[in-house]
Amino acid sequence: MGLLSLGTPLHWKDSREYAEHVRDNGIQQLLTCFDAAHDRSHDKFLWGDELEYMVVKIDDANKKVTLALDEDDVLEKLGEDGVSHQKALDNDVLFHPEYGRYMIEATPQKPYNGESLKDYLYVEKNMNLRRSVAQSEISDKNKIPLALTAFPRMGVDTFTSPAYPANGPASKSLFLPDQIINRHVRFPTLTANIRRRRGQKVAINIPLYKDEKTVFDEIDPTIPKRSLFPYEDNEAFLGAAKKGHIYMDSMGFGMGSSCLQVTMQAPDIFEARYLYDSLVNIAPLLLSLSAAAPIFRGHLADQDVRWNVISGAVDDRTPFERDEAPLKGHPERGNTKSTVKLQKIPKSRYDSVDQYLGDYQNDESGKFNYFKPEFNDLDSPINNKVLNKLTDSGFDDVLAHHFAHLYIRDPIVIFNERIHQDNNKETDHFENIQSTNWQTLRFKPPTQDAVPGNNKTPGWRVELRPMEISITDFENAAYATFSVLLSRAILKYRPNFYLPISYAEKNMKIAHFRDSVIKNTFYYRTNFQSVNEDPKVAQLSLDQIFNGTDSMEGLISIVERYVKETFPQNEDNSKNDLDKLQAYLKLISKRASGEVQTCAHFIRNFVLNHPDYKKDSIVSDLINYDLIKKLVSVAEYDRVAVVDFFGNDIGNWLIDNGY
Ligand code: ADP
Ligand code: MG
Ligand code: MG
Ligand code: MG
Ligand code: MG
Ligand code: MG
Repeated sequence: MGLLSLGTPLHWKDSREYAEHVRDNGIQQLLTCFDAAHDRSHDKFLWGDELEYMVVKIDDANKKVTLALDEDDVLEKLGEDGVSHQKALDNDVLFHPEYGRYMIEATPQKPYNGESLKDYLYVEKNMNLRRSVAQSEISDKNKIPLALTAFPRMGVDTFTSPAYPANGPASKSLFLPDQIINRHVRFPTLTANIRRRRGQKVAINIPLYKDEKTVFDEIDPTIPKRSLFPYEDNEAFLGAAKKGHIYMDSMGFGMGSSCLQVTMQAPDIFEARYLYDSLVNIAPLLLSLSAAAPIFRGHLADQDVRWNVISGAVDDRTPFERDEAPLKGHPERGNTKSTVKLQKIPKSRYDSVDQYLGDYQNDESGKFNYFKPEFNDLDSPINNKVLNKLTDSGFDDVLAHHFAHLYIRDPIVIFNERIHQDNNKETDHFENIQSTNWQTLRFKPPTQDAVPGNNKTPGWRVELRPMEISITDFENAAYATFSVLLSRAILKYRPNFYLPISYAEKNMKIAHFRDSVIKNTFYYRTNFQSVNEDPKVAQLSLDQIFNGTDSMEGLISIVERYVKETFPQNEDNSKNDLDKLQAYLKLISKRASGEVQTCAHFIRNFVLNHPDYKKDSIVSDLINYDLIKKLVSVAEYDRVAVVDFFGNDIGNWLIDNGY
């Protein structure tokens, strides 16, 4: 999550009065950052990953697994002022708060130096340490930090420990108690203000998996009828809940899920923009390849990933902005009185990238290397005032458009004590909008002290955000390492991955489909090595994209080439270490070919074959318990479990290599 200020958060109706103030000053802050850092060059390729764990409580006596809400003091103990902070430092790890009270985000203490082979192999070790340090602070050994993308029984009956009824004023959810939300006041306010701005609760409808006995032709009969919040409690029955779908009504369903993110520092702003653009269409592919979330609110979904759930979970657009009619008999509420021009907004604040940044040449020519303006072919509305301000201040059109698009949003949480800031030193207003635009990639500018030469302060970074979290550290290390090595290879070999960005948008939708890895094709630029040609776009399977075809080099091979050239086998780069890196690439390659199933596929199959499963798409407490136990044994590299999960080849490799 973004910044955590202390203080008094404003209710939406007060916060709205300061929306334009935040935007104006946010852009001023961006400008001072650009002035300071524009000319930075030759920054090192530093990078770091973020993992999010869910603390689950396993109750063997009752065969039930719940989300533990009473271990969030772990974060305080390990945090900056905590009694165990030194332990975190000694282990080279850092912990961060997340949306869910049961969640723990963890990163390396400082970014990795992506220079030597050893740096890449250290990542998994560091991930290991994060898990074990977090676990060591939890005295109840039945509570385990698990790298689970979505908790299957989220929002069904009692799914937390301690148990709380769903009756909280922040979310007004029919399913989720407010006690699942992080205690820091920013998080319940975020939840409530999204609802207030929207004028109704968020409404997430995920296609339901249709089995023999699935109730499909009516609205989910398990949605409770309640009259605690008369207005909101009715929404499900006024059109918010759709037939044949899993209905969810609260931010926690989305922001309470976990993912893997990777942030990379480019040598300069030009390289950062090129890297960002190159990854735009890689992002949906990685979402498909890391699919790990086939169950929501106790139902099997007809999709495999979390992405559109989060997208819906923070969708603060009003009916007018979404271009939808208000709910039946429900007067339009929400942000009808806006401080910016009201306009139609096609997508949620949490969604895939809408625009390329443009790969301007690093000289005075004002020309692009590969980018063409017509590649930005999506309807992505902008804030005109911001666009004009930025272009008047010397921003090129494409970059100005990027920020002007982010700045169509209102700030959701403003702290009363933080309204007035020093735009020459602070960036909270800028970050307020920037970090509540949750896209597949984030372009992270430096701060005002990041003047050229000051390499203690981060430079121009690109964050890759689509991936689901994987159960094992081995997989998370593999996905992170693959993404980073691919990025390094891109910066070295300079392929041209541009295609009209509407294809990346289509790929995002395809990436949601059940078993999209093996069943679907994705739009891909096949002539990425003929950099001056117009794009040739073909529909290819992930196997073809990652493992290559007769006429096209696969992404794995590009990375292997980079590894071979950068880390030739010698006294620094042992065969053992290179084999380990190869194991990561093998996992990615075999997931792409379908030889190793995705986590989502494994979970779905587990449910479908469970004796308690009644062919009705419902995941019972008992199924959930057995599933989580199984996933815990995978995470602990139990012999039988890893072979079940990864198949013989990788399963045995893990066992033979001391996992
Ligand atoms: P956010 O949640 O805003 O993305 P976090 O602090 O949680 O931010 O994570 C940022 C990630 O970026 C961490 O993995 C961190 O190690 C990494 N990082 C920090 N500084 C740099 C840098 N200069 N270059 C690249 N990565 C960095
Ligand atoms: Mg996070
Ligand atoms: Mg983070
Ligand atoms: Mg953060
Ligand atoms: Mg405790
Ligand atoms: Mg992040």
